[in-house]
Amino acid sequence: MVEKELLKIFKSEQALLSGHFLLSSGLHSGQYMQCALLLQKPWIAQGLCQTLAKKLSGIKVDVVIGPALGGVIVSYEMGRALKIRSIFAERVDGTMVLRRGFSLKKSEKVLVVEDVITTGKSTQEVVKLVKEHGAKLVAVAAIVDRSGGGAIFDAELFSLLKIGITTYRPEGCPLCGEGRLPVVKPGSRTH
Ligand SMILES: [Zn+2]
Repeated sequence: MVEKELLKIFKSEQALLSGHFLLSSGLHSGQYMQCALLLQKPWIAQGLCQTLAKKLSGIKVDVVIGPALGGVIVSYEMGRALKIRSIFAERVDGTMVLRRGFSLKKSEKVLVVEDVITTGKSTQEVVKLVKEHGAKLVAVAAIVDRSGGGAIFDAELFSLLKIGITTYRPEGCPLCGEGRLPVVKPGSRTH
């Protein structure tokens, strides 16, 4: 699957919208990505993760882990594709932990996954958790890498799609300047 095909799927599933958006950060943008809309179709999620898993060929992995909520589905489908255990980490009082009886053994080879890596902060927290358990990070993988090369891990980062989404402060937003499109909150009914 090449990036072009992937972008087509993103657009047809409305997971990547073009327009004029007000983000929760208060910034404006001409594009908006909602990966959950892609993953809501299990057959699409499965296909994407199979393709992502192929990129890891040659890397031996024992267990895959992702941060809740975004990483849960990707972890599950990567576990299916690689035929390995799939678990997830969740935040309790601000700290990423393993619950529900999930465990990581010493020297287990671990793949950390996410749906979208933007700053890589939660992914980094899962990497830390993996190391605290004495397990070994062998790779990081995400459906989308939006970090622009800014997310650096102690293992190689694999992704299906690298995309940069430019954001603007409202006062400097060229889309506001054009005045053609009113700014909308993504997820509102009109879009
Ligand atoms: Zn604007």
